[in-house]
Amino acid sequence: MPKNQDASLLSHAGHYLDTRSGAVVPPIQPSSTYARDEQGELYNASRTYARDHSDNSEQAEAVICRLEGGQASRLFGSGMAAATAIVQSLRPGQRLVAPTVMYWSLRAWMVDFCNDWGIELVFYDADDATDLARVVVAKPTHMVWLESPANPTWQVVDIAAAAQVAHTANAQLVVDATVLTPLLCKPIELGADLVFHSATKYLNGHSDVVAGVVTCAQQDQRWQRICNIRAQLGGILSPFSSWLLLRGMRTLHLRVERASSNAQAFAEHFHNHPQVIEVMYPGLPSHPQHNIAKQQCKNGFGGMLSIRFKGGREQTAIIMGKLQLMVRATSLGGVESLVEHRALIEGPTSPVPDDLLRFSIGCEAIEDLIADLERALV
Ligand SMILES: *Cc1c(COP(=O)(O)O)cnc(C)c1O
Repeated sequence: MPKNQDASLLSHAGHYLDTRSGAVVPPIQPSSTYARDEQGELYNASRTYARDHSDNSEQAEAVICRLEGGQASRLFGSGMAAATAIVQSLRPGQRLVAPTVMYWSLRAWMVDFCNDWGIELVFYDADDATDLARVVVAKPTHMVWLESPANPTWQVVDIAAAAQVAHTANAQLVVDATVLTPLLCKPIELGADLVFHSATKYLNGHSDVVAGVVTCAQQDQRWQRICNIRAQLGGILSPFSSWLLLRGMRTLHLRVERASSNAQAFAEHFHNHPQVIEVMYPGLPSHPQHNIAKQQCKNGFGGMLSIRFKGGREQTAIIMGKLQLMVRATSLGGVESLVEHRALIEGPTSPVPDDLLRFSIGCEAIEDLIADLERALV
């Protein structure tokens, strides 16, 4: 297998060529329906209605599927639409095991949904390598949710070990791999059954699309249920957004490489700063799961990191207010760097320390990013 296979796959993004016009990029196909001929036969048997089939979504799905090494991928109208479809594929009476620290909105929804629909939801501490096994073997379990590295502390979980724990118990493993992208980590190769991404983030990468994607290792019954949920509940991605996503992905490898090397340099620079308590980044040897991250990450540790500052919430808010280049906004994975005070966003029940800022490091010149925070710290 050539070493730069992903880079070539992404650059060509399906290698579209319109033989009629010679065009090298796919057109946007907005049609909501597909016609039948005089005999009532569909012109294209795989096309009936746009809630089920879309050229533009399928083009982007094909690229993601190959990148993940999966069997099939489905795009959704947001990351949450994709993640909730996975959870909704569980039946009442089944058991879901999820990490204590994970994407905030999804965790909040899971608690309500599982409560309303009679699905048993149990949390495990992903910091403790043995806790998942303890929780999973306690009772028959159907699905294990895992996020690595996890928002906003960037705690890393050993995906291969978790897959083994899940499979021994006949449960399926779902990995939220939004932060690393399939370029740095391929969960299916490590044993995951389903991989989820908020494609809003790195996959699209330009802060102009909200999308989600699920990829399966096997087209099993659960996969059928997830596909049916999309087609019936209608959480599809529009042709234009799918087209933008495919276009964004053509530079995914370049953006991820740059964001990772910028984040590594940023983390190393501020790691011993007198006003910094701690830099949380899996690429630093001081990170508690640095060794696991090294094993399961290829070519970098991603663009996400958090920093805890001395002086508590007040001082941290002042530092954030002084940043001039980095944009104060939620979300991550865009070409421009973003910064966010998570405790403020999550509210009074948030477990996130209030002296923590979360940085999504983008593709700017690293000197400018370092100078921006240095200026804010004086
Ligand atoms: C953003 C995000 C989601 C939710 O995705 P949306 O596209 O915002 O709906 C889920 N998990 C992680 C890790 C995310 O960063």
